[in-house]
Amino acid sequence: MAQPPKRNTPKDAKDSRDSTPPPERRRKVQTEGQFFKCPNRSCAQSLFIKDIEKHFHCCKFCGHHFRIGSRKRVEITLDPGSFTEICNGLESLDPLQFKGKRSYLERIKESQDKTGLRDAVICGEGKIEGQPLVFCAMDFQFMGGSMGSVVGEKIARAIEHATKRGWPIVIVCCSGGARMDEGVLSLMQMAKTSAALERHSEAGLTYIAVLSDPTLAGVSASYAFLADLIIGEPEAMIGFTGARVIEQTIRKKLPEGFQTSEFLLKHGQIDMVTPRKDMRGTLAKLLAYATGEETEAARAGKAGAPRPQGLAASAKQEPAPELVAAETDVSGKKARRR
Ligand SMILES: [Zn+2]
Repeated sequence: MAQPPKRNTPKDAKDSRDSTPPPERRRKVQTEGQFFKCPNRSCAQSLFIKDIEKHFHCCKFCGHHFRIGSRKRVEITLDPGSFTEICNGLESLDPLQFKGKRSYLERIKESQDKTGLRDAVICGEGKIEGQPLVFCAMDFQFMGGSMGSVVGEKIARAIEHATKRGWPIVIVCCSGGARMDEGVLSLMQMAKTSAALERHSEAGLTYIAVLSDPTLAGVSASYAFLADLIIGEPEAMIGFTGARVIEQTIRKKLPEGFQTSEFLLKHGQIDMVTPRKDMRGTLAKLLAYATGEETEAARAGKAGAPRPQGLAASAKQEPAPELVAAETDVSGKKARRR
């Protein structure tokens, strides 16, 4: 009868040729969860997660922009420690008693637990290179960044806050559109936010929208496209209805790159495409130009260099070359909005 194979005990292991050190001496090298494959098919490189964070959550090989949460957006855009959140006490009710597989309130609770947010946007006061502004960042992790009554109300209040303060506002959009669970109440947010922006514009203040992936439907049809300057992140999906639905409706093949930032820039729908690593610097320059204030960098190190002039003064002064396009766009948009 064959003997069962002898199992090594820790004592036997010492005598064998097994070079594996005993467990207590084994150095742990954990790689699981440390690497991530770039979702861009033509790249597909393995990325070290800490490396992605270092590169503003972008692939260092191909520049693919990963979606980031609203808190991260605040962290990489505003001056450290300058952000004070406003109207953060608002939470959704369930006005329609909406029930799908689970109730609306259950899904809200789940998103709150997952993200630590109360709803899909955070708004507050902050500074970019010393320049005060109101800043809003939407969060796709919270029910697809959808706009319900709370998102609409927070955005509208943030705009009104900026108007009252006489400050510019920057809204980073990231949304699948209006929140169906709140039906027509979600759609009403489009009118409310648009009206608040009109009052902000009437006060002669600047609004810059940053459209990240994705910016769609009710959000793109309201505040995302009402800005004086509209900046897209590279390859962000921006549009109203999804491409598949449009194709089915018009029964035509849509062109390559349809609904990307680059496509929209080429067709005059947005003003700039700016990589995330340059976003803070670009916003600082544009805000300085719009308000006629200096950035901290300009004050600190560029004594003697011509400082950007405000829109009001720009008629008499020769603006910096890189800002000529911005001026044209700002004045063009203002004229359309009024
Ligand atoms: Zn890549």
